[in-house]
Amino acid sequence: MFDTNEMEIHLHGIGVSPGICIGKAYLVGKEGVDIVDKYLIGKDDLQNEIKRFKSAVKNAKDKLQEIIDSTPEGLREHAYILETHKVMFKDKMLYGKTIETIEKERVNAEWALKKVVSNVKSMFNNMTDAYLQGRVDDFVHVSESIMQNLVGAKSVDIAAIDKRVILVATDISPAETSQIQLEKIKGLVTDLGGKTSHTGIIARTLEIPAVQGLDNATRTIKNDDIIVVDGNSGIVILHPTDQTLIEFEERQSRYEEYKAVITRDSHLPAETTDGFKLEVMGNIELPEEVVSVINYGGDGIGLFRTEFQYLSQFNFPSEDELFDQYKDVIEVMTPRPVTIRTLDISGEKAVSYATDLEEKNPVLGLRGIRYCLKNPEVFKTQLRAILRASAFGKIRILFPMISCQDEVLAAKKMLAEVAGSLEKEGIPFDENIEIGIMIEVPSAAIMADVMAKEVDFFSIGTNDLIQYALAVDRVNKQVAHLYQPLNPAIIRLIKHVADVGKNSDVKVFMCGEMASDPVNIPILLGLGIKRLSMNPQSIPAVKKIVRALNVEDAKRFTKDVLKETSETGVLELVFQTYGSTLFDIGYAES
Ligand code: PEP
Ligand code: MG
Repeated sequence: MFDTNEMEIHLHGIGVSPGICIGKAYLVGKEGVDIVDKYLIGKDDLQNEIKRFKSAVKNAKDKLQEIIDSTPEGLREHAYILETHKVMFKDKMLYGKTIETIEKERVNAEWALKKVVSNVKSMFNNMTDAYLQGRVDDFVHVSESIMQNLVGAKSVDIAAIDKRVILVATDISPAETSQIQLEKIKGLVTDLGGKTSHTGIIARTLEIPAVQGLDNATRTIKNDDIIVVDGNSGIVILHPTDQTLIEFEERQSRYEEYKAVITRDSHLPAETTDGFKLEVMGNIELPEEVVSVINYGGDGIGLFRTEFQYLSQFNFPSEDELFDQYKDVIEVMTPRPVTIRTLDISGEKAVSYATDLEEKNPVLGLRGIRYCLKNPEVFKTQLRAILRASAFGKIRILFPMISCQDEVLAAKKMLAEVAGSLEKEGIPFDENIEIGIMIEVPSAAIMADVMAKEVDFFSIGTNDLIQYALAVDRVNKQVAHLYQPLNPAIIRLIKHVADVGKNSDVKVFMCGEMASDPVNIPILLGLGIKRLSMNPQSIPAVKKIVRALNVEDAKRFTKDVLKETSETGVLELVFQTYGSTLFDIGYAES
């Protein structure tokens, strides 16, 4: 999609890595892999064709190993993504199915591979979950590298690019992205991909601006065209006018200044002007994101969404695989705490191999703890892995989607059984591990006083709490205007949970996205929420606003907020009272 303003063309995509850059485009092609002929293979040649496929897989795998071995120090933690790709080479859906297609249909390997990939793509096509789409991209990257070997196409040698350019491609694999040399590549623009693509994750770590999901960038942009990439807003501007160039150069330096100021202080504690220290932690989906939590000054991990490890493969991970990952995370974070949330699959995070259940309303269906309690083997495997990892640092365990007391009791019972069996086997674990529940279903918020008797902490999951309390689908654009974190109903629900926390020993955390927006912080502080967890990049700005606030003032202010009857009223009051503070931290620039 694009709109034109004379010669200047604006392309709209998804900003996956923030920052602004201006430079010459460098188109990266993948000749040969898209146009594939079909031909039939004689019965006697079938085994040779399969051999040809297997050797293409082996060569592609060897090449990937070379890339892993030569991964620069700064990207070491991302070798994990490439290791995942290595495993995919032998995946049944790819490897097994292609061989089966060659044999059954007696077709050439290229055609069989192309057919298998297009089947997988259409299988996942109907799913809206961005993370799953990202995993399909991984699948495609792996198959492309096999295809390159089959057709003898040259692979893109990103490491050999010797000018300062912005890469423009249909897609760039994580392996290719990891070869980027920072002194050469200013930014990244692709037709495919989105927020949760691994390429996006690597671009964020490299801190190069990137926009993905542009659909037609490679058809519109030509080699050496001057382009502006705005990774904050997801816009790419082709043929910028002089005026646009001046505007974006200014924006670029303002953004650099903002980032420098905000990250310079990110390791200072989040302490209010009257001496209250808040815990500001990071949310992660993948173990390699641990580094950005530390870099952005996080006090720990307040939410480790473990389902992504299940989503990125084609079968349940084993206890040892899970344990290794949790142990890696806690070892890096120690002495900071890590809150591991148990599997929250289903809903919009469907795991194809976990269930063949067709649900009309999956978000209200067998998700989170409900799924785990029905599948004790899956649940207990994860609980064992978490408990084993708890011997290596401060781990908290968090149960998602709790809607009633019975679920808490049942989950705790299974945890106790697992702890008992570890004890019998003489395997060490933290016997005093803190147990918490997500408060993300309104019934759990309302019953917070009852829940408080069963657990050590609450973590308010506003992403779902808002969705369920206001009956607004969190991913439906049509009703996005009704998805209001500062709706008075939400503020009252949070207040109720915070008050239960104050009147009991239960610690109250907030790990939904509401915690990451500086606009909400005065109210959260006023309600008594002092433990926040968010996407790592938001930590510096949240810490900065906390340092400008005073708890007593925030409490007084929140009393007025509670009298408001609409989100608009609340927002007006926030800007009247704290507008200048928000302005001072550069809120408008972020
Ligand atoms: C939430 O619901 O607020 C939350 C943090 O969990 P998720 O976004 O993974 O549903
Ligand atoms: Mg949730």
